[in-house]
Amino acid sequence: MVEWNGYLILIFAIMAGNYILDLIVENLNLKRLSPELPAEFEGHYDAEKYAKSQDYTKVRTKFGFITGSFDLAVMITFILIGGFNYLDKFARGFGFGEILSGLIFVGILMIGMQIISLPFSIYSTFVIEEKFGFNRTTVKTFVLDLLKGLIISTILGGLVLWMVLWFFGALGSLAWIYVWMGLVLFMILVLYISPTWIMPLFNKFTPLQDGELKDTIVNYMQTNKFKMKGLFTIDGSKRSSKANAFFTGFGKSKRIALFDTLIEKFEVSEILTVLAHEVGHFKLRHVPKRIITGIFQMGLMLFILSLFIKNEGLFAAFGMENVSIYASLIFFSFIYAPVSMILGLISTISSRKHEYQADAFASQTTADPESMINALKKLSVTNLSNLTPHPLKVFLEYDHPPVLARIEAIRKL
Ligand SMILES: [Zn+2]
Repeated sequence: MVEWNGYLILIFAIMAGNYILDLIVENLNLKRLSPELPAEFEGHYDAEKYAKSQDYTKVRTKFGFITGSFDLAVMITFILIGGFNYLDKFARGFGFGEILSGLIFVGILMIGMQIISLPFSIYSTFVIEEKFGFNRTTVKTFVLDLLKGLIISTILGGLVLWMVLWFFGALGSLAWIYVWMGLVLFMILVLYISPTWIMPLFNKFTPLQDGELKDTIVNYMQTNKFKMKGLFTIDGSKRSSKANAFFTGFGKSKRIALFDTLIEKFEVSEILTVLAHEVGHFKLRHVPKRIITGIFQMGLMLFILSLFIKNEGLFAAFGMENVSIYASLIFFSFIYAPVSMILGLISTISSRKHEYQADAFASQTTADPESMINALKKLSVTNLSNLTPHPLKVFLEYDHPPVLARIEAIRKL
C-alpha cells in the first residue's frame, strides 16, 4: 500500500497545483475573448469568421480541460491502488535482470499512456479539427503515424533508457556525469539525423520547384550572402490545412521547410518574408543557443535525479516492495515537475525573444515589413489563432509572441 509520507503529499500537491493553475489560466484566457475584432485585422476577418476563430479557441480549451481532468484522475487512481507496485512485480516476473525489467516496466507504462490518450487524439483530429475544416488526415495516415511514432520511440527511447540504467547501475555516484555526456552525444546525433532520416518518414520533402518563388528566394539569398542548400516544400496538407514553415537541423543536415499549404495560399512576397524569418533564426544562431541551454538544463536535471535514485521515502510513497533505478526515474519525474516548469518558462521567454529578433531580421533584409505583417495576419487567419490571449497564458505557454505584439514590434522598427 502507498504510504502517506511527505513525498506523496508533495506529489499530490504538485499535481493539484498544476491542475488549478491551468484552470485559472484557461479561464482568464477565455474571459478575454471579445467579439470586437482588433482594428489591425479589419478586412482580414468578417464577423462570422472571427466568431468561428473564437469558437475554435473555446472548443480546444474545453477539450484540454476534459483531457487534463481525465489524465489527472487516472494517475491519482493508479498511484493510490498501488499500480506501480503491481506493474513492477509483473515486469520482474519474467526473471530478467535490472535493465531488461526496467525496459519492460517503462515500456508498459508508455504504451498504457498511449492507449489511454488514443481516444482523445482520435476525437481531436476527426471531430474537432474536422468541424473547423482543418482536418485532412485520413484514417490510413493516422494509423501509420501512430505505428511509425511507436517504432521510433521504442528504438530511440529504448536505447536511451538502456544507457541510463546501465550507467547508473555500474558507475556509482558520479554516474550522472557519464549519463549526461552520453545523452548529449545521443541528442546531437538525433538532431543531426532527424531532418534526413526521421522527418521524411512522416512527410515528403521536395526540393523547391523552379519558378517565380524560387527565383525570388535565390535572389534574396544572393543579395544577403546566404548559402542554404536545403530548401524544401513539405506536404503538410497531408494532415491539416494549417500553414507553417520551419527551420531544422544543423551542419550539412540543416533545412528550411515551407508547407505546401503556405505556398498555396500566400503571395510570393509574403512567403519570402516567412522564409527570411527562418533564415534569421539560422543567422542569429538561435538553434545552437537552444541546444546549449538544453544541455545545461539536462545536466541540472540529471544531477538532481542522482540525489533521488533509490530514495526509500519515494518508494514507500508509491507503495513499492522493491527498490530499483528504473522506477526511481519515473518517481523522480513527479517531484521534478515544478523545476521543469520553471526551466520551461526560461526557454519560452528566450524563444519569444528569438521570434522578435527573427521578425526584425526578416523585415530588414527583405526591406518589406508590409509583406511580413500581411504574412503574419494571413497565418493567424488561416490557423484561426487566438488574437487576444491573456498575458498570463502567453507568459506561461507561448513560445511565439501573440501576433498583434509581433506586428507592433515590426511597425516600431
Ligand atoms: Zn520563428
